[in-house]
Amino acid sequence: MPELTNIFERIEGYRDEVTELQRVLTSKIALGPENGGSGEHEKTQFIGALLEALGPDMLKEIKAPDERALDGYRPNLIARWGDALGGPVVWVLSHSDIVPPGDLSLWDSDPYRVKVKDDRIIGRGVEDNQHGFVSSYLALKAIFESGRKLVRPVGLVVVADEETGSDYGLSYVLKNHQKFFEDHDLIIVPDGGNEEGTMIEVAEKSMLWLKFTITGRQCHASTPHKGKNSLFGAANLILALKRLGQEFKLSDDLFSPPVSTFEPTKIEANVPNINTIPGRNTFYMDCRILPDYRVEEILAECKEIASDIGARLGLEVQVDIVYRQDATEPTSPEAPVVKALTRAIKKVTGKDARPMGIGGGTVAAFFRKAGLPAAVWSTISDSAHQPNEYCLIKNVLTDAKVFASLYLDDGRDIA
Ligand SMILES: [Zn+2]
Repeated sequence: MPELTNIFERIEGYRDEVTELQRVLTSKIALGPENGGSGEHEKTQFIGALLEALGPDMLKEIKAPDERALDGYRPNLIARWGDALGGPVVWVLSHSDIVPPGDLSLWDSDPYRVKVKDDRIIGRGVEDNQHGFVSSYLALKAIFESGRKLVRPVGLVVVADEETGSDYGLSYVLKNHQKFFEDHDLIIVPDGGNEEGTMIEVAEKSMLWLKFTITGRQCHASTPHKGKNSLFGAANLILALKRLGQEFKLSDDLFSPPVSTFEPTKIEANVPNINTIPGRNTFYMDCRILPDYRVEEILAECKEIASDIGARLGLEVQVDIVYRQDATEPTSPEAPVVKALTRAIKKVTGKDARPMGIGGGTVAAFFRKAGLPAAVWSTISDSAHQPNEYCLIKNVLTDAKVFASLYLDDGRDIA
């Protein structure tokens, strides 16, 4: 296929462009209100201009009303090319928002100013999820620059609010504009994957984020008998919750890791000084639950453990759900999107990809819930949400080639 070779060579020539795109995208800080930001507007506007320059048949901004955000909305973009061709559309969806850098002392450089070290680009958002956008966008650009015509319609979607629940992102888009997507479309979400680029994620665990509030009585630290130490309660509860892993221990090799996970994560500041016994402590737990279990079962067990500890230590313990996403019907490993992606990966890297399940939390679940088969795939090192988040330029270029092959797939195996 000489035309494909041409396009691949063109993509190889995009090394500097990858760096430059990552630099600009990282500098436009897209934090949602929950994470102390005003939204994804600036970054989305930049992306919108890139898409516009590729002459789409359709480019639409979908504004999800959010009074906390700049101008009262969160921006989502949807663009499509090759409308006249008709038939199933290849969609690639990435998200514009990022998570905060976290503890800055753990970063070796400014998270919002990319640092390039050999093949590595470091900065907040470069992997999650700019890698996905940049590779899917450059694939399309390479096709057009080489003068090649699409053989099927291709769409790019860039959503807001992926990191904090998607109410103002894909969930909103599907609720209000599901007509853009059809169940025979091929939907890819490049927001997960492995280093080899061989994992096509088709199933997810349920997600449950819980908030535990332990209330005791504040007092001077020299007279503990006059109060009730809520920190002591939090520590006991965290240890008691480890029981969940033993009680819900089913294993399924489709997933990595194969078991459900229950991890205490964030803890809120309590008292500012050392000589006060805290009267209130709040911590959070992130649960990823195999589809074999119902979220209710886990929730009931958490509440029971919490009330046991509360009763034993004379503290009040409240359990609140912060976020919940029940596992959806998986995408069939035989779905056209899985087959076409497998074929494209084989063509570019020679590797055999395989369908798998993961810990959940990608936006693909919203597509699946809406009856739209979606596959999550990319070639990444999994540095998302970590300090010194990075992406490898060679992986961005490889993924761009896979997307280009997919955009130009002749449609075999496509229903
Ligand atoms: Zn992401």
